[in-house]
Amino acid sequence: MIDPNTQRGAGALVLFSGGQDSSVCLAWALARHERVETVGFDYGQRHAVELEARLGVRARLAAEFPAWAARLGEDHVLDISSFGAVAASALTADRAIEMTEKGLPSTFVPGRNLAFFVYAAALADRRGLKALVGGMCETDFSGYPDCRRDTLDAMQSALNLGMAQDFAIATPLMRLTKADTWSLAKGLGGEALVRLIVEESHTCYLGDRTTLRPWGYGCGTCPACELRGRGWEAWVAQGRPALRPEGAP
Ligand code: ZN
Repeated sequence: MIDPNTQRGAGALVLFSGGQDSSVCLAWALARHERVETVGFDYGQRHAVELEARLGVRARLAAEFPAWAARLGEDHVLDISSFGAVAASALTADRAIEMTEKGLPSTFVPGRNLAFFVYAAALADRRGLKALVGGMCETDFSGYPDCRRDTLDAMQSALNLGMAQDFAIATPLMRLTKADTWSLAKGLGGEALVRLIVEESHTCYLGDRTTLRPWGYGCGTCPACELRGRGWEAWVAQGRPALRPEGAP
């Protein structure tokens, strides 16, 4: 298997939604790759607020971390609204967020991460980037089968076989809890990065940007807010530790 750690010099493409997880992934990539581009997907989300948060996170990373500003390259937003139409769910239509009979939350969009990686890999091929970085996590994950490392190992093989490439799918958050993700942010960029992620990244399913809570903006009650809030509280209870990423300089 390709080890993303051996591809430090190669450029990276970060699947970047503007949420907490992908914002930490962007910082992680900037700390280890000399060239980092970002890609976002517009698949007809209910809230353009996520796509706006992406720009806020990127701008502040560039302003507050000059070494990373030099590495931060282009941003790409791909319109995949036809995928959103096929996969209509609570994220893309006004349906209640609940558990389905398969034991998956109704926010699950079937095949979403797989589709993201197909588009991201095609873009990375054109841009000469080798590492595909995603914030998938199977520790605190909401039961999404396409967040599992097994799934992404298979995806990496399929992309490399099908595109005659040697991409590495890097998932720095895969084994981390939501509290650990805050620790990683602090390890990468100190309290300044923690602050930036609190204030600029967006997670709330309801798109609430009016109430700033200790862990960020959000309604405070939707499943995404609850997960983010619980992770923050666990991190604070641990004394706000910093986690130095593997292979950090
Ligand atoms: Zn919320």
